[in-house]
Amino acid sequence: MIAAAANLIVALKNKRPNTDGAGAPLYEKIIPRAGHPISRKNIDKDAIRVMHRLNKHGHEAYLVGGAVRDLYIGKTPKDYDIATDATPSRLRKVFRNCRIIGRRFKIGHIYFHDGKVIEVATFRQSAAKAEKSTKGIVRSESGIILRDNAYGTPQEDARRRDLTINGLFYDLKTFSVLDYVDGVKDLKSKIVRMISEPDLSFAEDPVRMLRALRHAARTGFRIEDRTMDSIIRNHSDILQANSSRLLEELLKDLRSGSATPFFKAILQAHLMGDLLPVLYAQLLDSGSAHPFWRRIKTLDDRVRGGSEFSSPISLSMLLYTTLFTEEELWDANQRISPLAMKQLRNNFQKSTAAIQVSRRDTERILQIARNLSTFNHLLRRARTPGKKLDKNYSRDVLDCLELEVESTGERPEMLLEWSRTVQKNERKRQAKRAQNGDSEDSTGRAPKRRRRRRRRRGRGGGQGGKNK
Ligand code: ATP
Ligand code: MG
Repeated sequence: MIAAAANLIVALKNKRPNTDGAGAPLYEKIIPRAGHPISRKNIDKDAIRVMHRLNKHGHEAYLVGGAVRDLYIGKTPKDYDIATDATPSRLRKVFRNCRIIGRRFKIGHIYFHDGKVIEVATFRQSAAKAEKSTKGIVRSESGIILRDNAYGTPQEDARRRDLTINGLFYDLKTFSVLDYVDGVKDLKSKIVRMISEPDLSFAEDPVRMLRALRHAARTGFRIEDRTMDSIIRNHSDILQANSSRLLEELLKDLRSGSATPFFKAILQAHLMGDLLPVLYAQLLDSGSAHPFWRRIKTLDDRVRGGSEFSSPISLSMLLYTTLFTEEELWDANQRISPLAMKQLRNNFQKSTAAIQVSRRDTERILQIARNLSTFNHLLRRARTPGKKLDKNYSRDVLDCLELEVESTGERPEMLLEWSRTVQKNERKRQAKRAQNGDSEDSTGRAPKRRRRRRRRRGRGGGQGGKNK
């Protein structure tokens, strides 16, 4: 009864301007504290500090996007985004710990002592208005938004977002939720729906197709028919997006703990064929029996249990069967033949043609793949890798092998022993480095040569390394 009464308080107001610049009406649904489940107690303290500080300096500031969505459905947000009327240059003045990043959209990153970053973005102008202004939107030939740094009102900003469930604002001053996009209705009915017309929304930014599938996979919500039809119709446009951005998006899913439903969703929506053509062909051939599914499920289980994996490890698990088959990799002497090595690199290039993996990560993945096969081979024959357990790559290889073996339901004692040896060797190497005052980078390259190269760069001679 109380909840019903609270819902009745939901007010539909037309106080702010009235159209989105193209004539479509804007409305504002204010849901007071009694009508929604978000408690200030559950909001990150630093995000609250940022909003308070902006308010104190005379600005509007709201918690927006995924944080409001997650808090509404009782999940802990992964990160906190704030929208404000303060421009990027104003943010730099209000916060000493602020850095402005981005070209396509300028955003303020506010840094806190524990490495936490709160993202603050200025309200974006409606697409229709920005299109008319000279400072407005810059598009590619295909309609993708390349640059968009024209500022507007909270309503306009909400309507520029992707999904209705991602378009809600939380107002710390009144503890109310502002709903300009009818997002609460979709949150309650567990529906993923684009805010603007799906074909237009995906033409502006094809990555939104992945985002729609991602959030459906993570929340278990149903994708509304018009949105799903549009994804299926437009799936190949995903390749219009920047290939490093596509890689970053896939990495988010590999690290989400919900990679299994996500990859099932992109397979069904045909996006996997665009992004990972080799894996796609294999999955179509073998269906749910393909080892990819057990591997990704194990990765999900471990992520949910609190483990974190680097990009090369996550990508190795994703690409595993596209890189080699055991038979291809081993010649009669049980060594990796030069031909197999060449093939490994070719296979990698083919299977990652649509996503841009950095050169540094490519080398690490190839190194993992090469040794993973050796380690696996030795494990099957109860032989030890010996000195190979004392290399900079040993930990990565073992992490992958553990995931692989775990996914088959095995837990061999020998693998635990190897893991302990690797740990011991790592500690020894660390102590030795501390003694020599050396530092080892994540690729495990020999420190001496790198140090010399870096020093040369530092004197102003060299160009920054591509992979830095
Ligand atoms: P996550 O839980 O993964 O952080 P999220 O929805 O918060 O999910 P973010 O990448 O943190 O994702 O983005 C924050 C918000 O910015 C989104 O909720 C959405 O409102 C908006 N947004 C992000 N990417 C896009 C996009 N490509 N197009 C339109 N709006 C976007
Ligand atoms: Mg977020």
